[in-house]
Amino acid sequence: MSTEQTNIKVVVRVRPYNRRELEQNQRQIVKVLDNNTLLFDPDEEDDEFFFQGTKQNYRDITKRVNKKISMDFDRVYDPEATNQQIFEECTSPLVASVLNGYNCSVFVYGATGAGKTFTMLGSETCPGLTFLTMRELFEKIQVQSTTHKFDVGVSYLEVYNELVMNLLTKTGPLKLREDSNGVVVSGLVLKPIYSADELLQLLAQGNSNRTQHPTDANAESSRSHAIFQVHIRMTDRKTGTKRTVKLSMIDLAGSERAASTKGIGVRFKEGASINKSLLALGNCINKLADGMKHIPYRDSNLTRILKDSLGGNCQTLMVANVSMSSLTYEDTYNTLKYASRAKKI
Ligand code: ADP
Ligand code: MG
Repeated sequence: MSTEQTNIKVVVRVRPYNRRELEQNQRQIVKVLDNNTLLFDPDEEDDEFFFQGTKQNYRDITKRVNKKISMDFDRVYDPEATNQQIFEECTSPLVASVLNGYNCSVFVYGATGAGKTFTMLGSETCPGLTFLTMRELFEKIQVQSTTHKFDVGVSYLEVYNELVMNLLTKTGPLKLREDSNGVVVSGLVLKPIYSADELLQLLAQGNSNRTQHPTDANAESSRSHAIFQVHIRMTDRKTGTKRTVKLSMIDLAGSERAASTKGIGVRFKEGASINKSLLALGNCINKLADGMKHIPYRDSNLTRILKDSLGGNCQTLMVANVSMSSLTYEDTYNTLKYASRAKKI
């Protein structure tokens, strides 16, 4: 099956080096070859430079052999890429799909520090995909308001340790239950919004409510999945026909393995739950990409919540975030493996 037939698009974003990586002058383990291809763990070219271009005739057999794996994705973004560019190429088309009646979801995946939140939320000076996408949504809604009436409500949920919390009201845990329409989050009230600017404040408020725990491995590690959902009800002004669609934007928890943190007890449980949700998501996406019928949505609360936003007529974008520094070799390798499995042909 070719990727054109599936509704899952997988792109990789390589972030610029951070200060620590620059200071430690680490080796570059990801090379962007073109818009679709990257090379993981390339040979070191500085050998050649060091020996002034003379080819080495011997090989240090104690040296680990570079993997040199070439990987293809729907798009590969180098460190120069901006949120604006990724929005234009990847999520702007989703706005059109949503208004045509398709549920859409956008995931950012990657280890802590790889750039997920930067991509999704951005910074004050550089808004992320959520804001840019919502701004376009409101612009398009404005244009179509002569023919349709739109009601827009948002929710912002966190899945932490398999518990579902409401980030906007700081309440929970909320129960999930199944009814004829799918999975319902009990007690969740949507917050109506009327502009993208209003959203910025809501997002900031919601984020300050996200569960964060400093660990030895990374003081800023985020151990929760944040699920932002826009529910849109479109009413045809002439016929009165109603249609409801959803756009979901998910900032996933750090994908680093629990083993890489020194935590015990509570931390370990957190790690296990995060892996459970990420694993379940990976399994669902693999099966969807393979065109399988049975999709194991029930395996985690993350996938239960997203059941109606994955597969079927839905369109899914996965942005895999990586660093190109050898400091994060394992994380980067694991993220790229997860991402290429998600786009398996
Ligand atoms: P994550 O959410 O995956 O843990 P962050 O998005 O918080 O990672 O990124 C870690 C740090 O790197 C932050 O300081 C962020 O501002 C910076 N950063 C990430 N991606 C980029 C990028 N593409 N350009 C500039 N800075 C970035
Ligand atoms: Mg983050």
